[in-house]
This record gives sequence, C-alpha cells and structure tokens, in this order.
Amino acid sequence: MSGSAKQLQFKLVLLGESAVGKSSLVLRFVKDQFDDYRESTIGAAFLTQTVKLDDQTTVKFEIWDTAGQERYKSLAPMYYRNAHCAVVVYDVTQPQSLEKAKSWIKELQRQADPNIVIALAGNKVDLAATRRGVPKEDAQRYAEEEKLLFLETSAKDSSNVSELFTMIARKLPLEQ
Ligand code: GDP
Repeated sequence: MSGSAKQLQFKLVLLGESAVGKSSLVLRFVKDQFDDYRESTIGAAFLTQTVKLDDQTTVKFEIWDTAGQERYKSLAPMYYRNAHCAVVVYDVTQPQSLEKAKSWIKELQRQADPNIVIALAGNKVDLAATRRGVPKEDAQRYAEEEKLLFLETSAKDSSNVSELFTMIARKLPLEQ
C-alpha cells in the first residue's frame, strides 16, 4: 500500500440545547441508526468514526457528546478545550434553540482554540415542511457573518449527516 497514506485524528465536540438531536446525529453518523425513543441521558464518553477524503487521506473523528450534562449546568470549558472542531446544533422547529446555539458559538469564539472549525447544524429538517420555526435564510446569514459552516440536517432521515462531517473534515488542517 501507499506509504504516504495519512490518517489524522481530530477531537470533535457537540454543543446545543438539550433534545435538539446531538446524540441522534452522532448515532446516525457512527452507526447509521436512529431511535425515536432514545434515552438521551445515556451517552458514551466518546465514539470514533472515520471519513475518507481521498485515497491518501482519512480523517478520524473522536466525537465527544455531552451525555445530557448541558441540562444541569453549563459545560466545563474543559469539554471543548483542545477540540479541533465543534458541531453546534439547533432544532429548526424551535427558534429559542438557535439563540442557545448562538450563545454557545460566542463562548467557543471567546474560549476555544482560535483555529477551531465550527459548524452550525439546523437539525430535524424532516419536520420543516409542517413545523419550521427558523427560516433557513436567517440561520444561513448568521453562519456567513460568523464564518461558520452551515447545513440543515436530519438524524431521522439521514439528510446531510455524512455531508456535515465531510464538510468539517475538508476544513481541518490536514498537514499537521
Ligand atoms: P440531545 O439531547 O440533543 O442529544 O437530543 P437527542 O439525540 O436525545 O434527541 C432528542 C429527541 O429528538 C429524540 O426523541 C430523538 O428521537 C429526536 N430527534 C433527534 N434528531 C431528530 C431528527 O432529525 N428528526 C426528528 N423528527 N426527530 C429527531
């Protein structure tokens, strides 16, 4: 095999209001599963998954989920310290969840590594046809202003989930 093949590893953290679908996005990405009745407080410390960018390059994500801690207290900065990338999730049916996402993004911009790659994910887009509460353009405009990656996703029907992680992988410093 090629001696120049690279596998680089990056720490990725999930942030966002409780019940927006953070764990569900991880479950979809890592195991290609979805569970309507998931017990959201049960979260593994971290999971890993790889994304192949090309024949030479594989990105391995070490994914840290909050395991529901965001419900009880603000998360310790230790959680996102040393993170190379963050997915900040809101629920497209819940406008206040976008406000919460914005406050997490501010905190990351103040306290995380200045080179962190941040993606904003508007999850539950499968419900948007009947229950949309956040116009896509509003979130997209905010993401552009803040120089964030942005996609609307559905952990339920898989929309844009692998695309989200691939988009992040392409923004990471692969010459480390
Ligand atoms: P977390 O607290 O942010 O980790 O959220 P969970 O992953 O536990 O999800 C909260 C609830 O939303 C669960 O009942 C999930 O089944 C549901 N859910 C998560 N993602 C989606 C999605 O993309 N579409 C729909 N319709 N429901 C979702």
